[in-house]
Amino acid sequence: MSSGCLFCGIVGGEVPANLVAEGDEWVAFRDIDPRAPSHVLVVPRRHVATLDDLAEEDDALVGALVRAAAEIARDEGLVEGGYRLVFNCGAGAGQSVYHIHLHLLGGRKFSWPPG
Ligand code: 5GP
Ligand code: ZN
Repeated sequence: MSSGCLFCGIVGGEVPANLVAEGDEWVAFRDIDPRAPSHVLVVPRRHVATLDDLAEEDDALVGALVRAAAEIARDEGLVEGGYRLVFNCGAGAGQSVYHIHLHLLGGRKFSWPPG
């Protein structure tokens, strides 16, 4: 737990969130400002500030986040229409919360490249 971190607060239950699913290493909850009909954030229970802080021993953790997102996408009925997974790394890419989180977005059309 990193004190003052919003997502550590959600993982620890001190900050309320609309939980979708959870696993041993991760928690998934609905984004407070959804950018698509389905917008879920999958976050590790352990605090990692950015993708740039990941080490080789985190490979299984990252795999668990991606597989959790894919399972939630299936549960939310997003597979047929397609969905997008996004990690923003750093302010220039739009990261605003410095505890890594995988965005799962679905339920509408997406353009490419992203804005
Ligand atoms: P980022 O911009 O860092 O990639 O994504 C952070 C996301 O966290 C944003 O989509 C934002 O709407 C979401 N967010 C910010 N504060 C809260 C909060 O208190 N609760 C929830 N559920 N989501 C939040
Ligand atoms: Zn944190």
